[in-house]
Amino acid sequence: MSPRPLLQVEDLVKHFPVRQGLFGRARASVRAVQGVSFNLQAGQTLGVVGESGCGKSTLGRLVLRLIEPTAGRVVFDGVDLGQLDAAALRAQRRHVQIIFQDPFSSLNPRMTVGQMLTEPLALHGLHAGRHRERVAELLQTVGLAPEHAQRYPHEFSGGQRQRVGIARALAVEPRLIVCDEAVSALDVSVQAQVVNLLQDLQQRLGLAYIFIAHDLAVVKHIATHIAVMYLGRIVEWADKATLFATPRHPYTQALLAAIPVPEPGLDPRQRVLLQGDVPSPTHPPEGCAFHTRCPHAQPRCQQDVPALGDPGGGQGHAVACHLWREIESPAALRPPPPRSDGQALRLLRLQSAFLPTSS
Ligand code: SF4
Repeated sequence: MSPRPLLQVEDLVKHFPVRQGLFGRARASVRAVQGVSFNLQAGQTLGVVGESGCGKSTLGRLVLRLIEPTAGRVVFDGVDLGQLDAAALRAQRRHVQIIFQDPFSSLNPRMTVGQMLTEPLALHGLHAGRHRERVAELLQTVGLAPEHAQRYPHEFSGGQRQRVGIARALAVEPRLIVCDEAVSALDVSVQAQVVNLLQDLQQRLGLAYIFIAHDLAVVKHIATHIAVMYLGRIVEWADKATLFATPRHPYTQALLAAIPVPEPGLDPRQRVLLQGDVPSPTHPPEGCAFHTRCPHAQPRCQQDVPALGDPGGGQGHAVACHLWREIESPAALRPPPPRSDGQALRLLRLQSAFLPTSS
């Protein structure tokens, strides 16, 4: 039997009202997250990828309970976060932390790094009487020097600032960290250093990550599992090796095809070009939300929402597409070949033989 998941997300929904007019009445709603479910075990990294506006950052904030869900549950280590009162939720927050995309705007410019790292320790009553030593330990853990505690955020490079952000997240000894586009604003070489640091910390401390990025190439190096999101829904979920070897959803195939390769002439992948823009999350298309851009869309796709299955619940590879089997063997998708005159005549005779005779 598999151990109890560290995190269970069940049918999570978040709609933001769009208020207009003199009285600010809600005229519509942005359907940011629509029925997302998955499990995550300790020590795993779930990479969440998708284009801007697909709901991945909202999902991260719902897991942290920074915003209230419209519906659904977030269960952390067996505790339903929706059932906690304000004091219990504050205490619980220690176990789930976040690293933001822009380390500069997420750090207080008027505080030294030492003050910033001491603040969460004092808030949660941790390491009382030895804050200075703990700050030095944290800085060394993320590859900075204890002397850096005296500096202000503007005195660091972008990569160093992100290390400070990681140290601050680690200060309260969390078990899960949501990395919200944590390396997207960094140079490629610095990205690699920060990703390596996060992997090293995961091995040493047994952390779980939700690693949010708009690019599959970035999550490839850190994720153990990947969820691909489109317009508020997970459309494909699998372990990393499976997803990269056999992507089943046309959207995942398009994202993979967009990853640059060093020698394009030797690239065996088929180019899958997406047409048009992502539809508005205020009025997402009926049926499969991807049908307006999908090269394989059939009439059925405009009516029925494809089900995903049970990501992380024992099912190895979940995909929300009516036609993924046919897409894997493309001959099944092609229209029947045109018939020759002789074949058409034989078919006509065959059909006539079954027509009812008039009496
Ligand atoms: Fe494309 Fe239809 Fe599959 Fe949606 S359900 S991804 S429109 S083939």
